[in-house]
Amino acid sequence: MPSPEPGVIDPKPVADRLREIRARIAAAARRAGRDPAGITLVAVSKTREADEIRAAVAAGQLDFGENYAQELAAKREALADLPQLRWHMIGHLQRNKAKLLVPGIHVLQTIDSPKLIEVVERRLAEHDACLEVLIQVDVAGEEQKSGAPPEEVPVLVAAIRACPHLRLRGLMVIPPFTAGAEESRPYFRALRELGAELAPREGERELSMGMSDTFEVAVEEGATIVRVGTAIFGER
Ligand SMILES: *Cc1c(COP(=O)(O)O)cnc(C)c1O
Repeated sequence: MPSPEPGVIDPKPVADRLREIRARIAAAARRAGRDPAGITLVAVSKTREADEIRAAVAAGQLDFGENYAQELAAKREALADLPQLRWHMIGHLQRNKAKLLVPGIHVLQTIDSPKLIEVVERRLAEHDACLEVLIQVDVAGEEQKSGAPPEEVPVLVAAIRACPHLRLRGLMVIPPFTAGAEESRPYFRALRELGAELAPREGERELSMGMSDTFEVAVEEGATIVRVGTAIFGER
């Protein structure tokens, strides 16, 4: 097979990998007796060029995740001709960066403090816009990491529900870095159990958990959103 010219992105591998990931998600869902249609694949495009994202879009991918506010804002700009894209902020959002992303993204997966809720709600109100949000939970109790401790989550749930421009969708977790997927399973299970204890309302039951090495175990444990980067786009 002739290799593509330098600087030209060959969309084929991305399309092939996306097909493979979707098949593995579907297989994991069936193992758990779940409907694969209930799982959203977010393609994590951090460090990737706009053309690589276009290749994924050509293969039917619409949800993309980014970690850094500036990088997300720049790509949204570069891909403004594709209004069907759904941008998920999956990295920690500093309050002074909120104006870069709000309004303009679709899902903020990393709400973890009352202050951030306040800043984002105020910004949305100014623009008369709405935003879907997930609460990032630090289920492992890793002090220095972002994410709210589980015991603070009920307060955040109430605060978000009280905001007219925020739509609570559910919870998100980034487990501690581990050697294998099975080591992540207890954290995924803990997030699912916390979600159930919160007595979620209709539309608030999303669980964002699982990455390239762990998404199948996450689906077995109830993930409704998986965030996959390397397995789609290759090593960073
Ligand atoms: C980078 C990242 C991912 C994707 O990681 P991969 O191992 O490349 O799939 C998922 N979630 C978060 C929060 C990330 O920062």
